[in-house]
Amino acid sequence: MARPEEMYQCQTANCGYIYNPDRGCRKRGVPKGTPWEEVAEDFRCPVCGAGKKMFRPLAGPGSVVAEGRRAAN
Ligand SMILES: [Zn+2]
Repeated sequence: MARPEEMYQCQTANCGYIYNPDRGCRKRGVPKGTPWEEVAEDFRCPVCGAGKKMFRPLAGPGSVVAEGRRAAN
């Protein structure tokens, strides 16, 4: 089971897709068990098409919580 620090959420308004390394992303060809750091830099959100820069971890440094704001949804 992935920890919140290892799960990354798309920050685009009205999206909210969460990348879970336990699941990977079949639609984008990312195998199960792939940590976010190893996901290709040209990865795009399977829901809205946003790039990796639009993703934030659910907890820990750089997360939406650490920055004092919450996801749009
Ligand atoms: Zn998205």
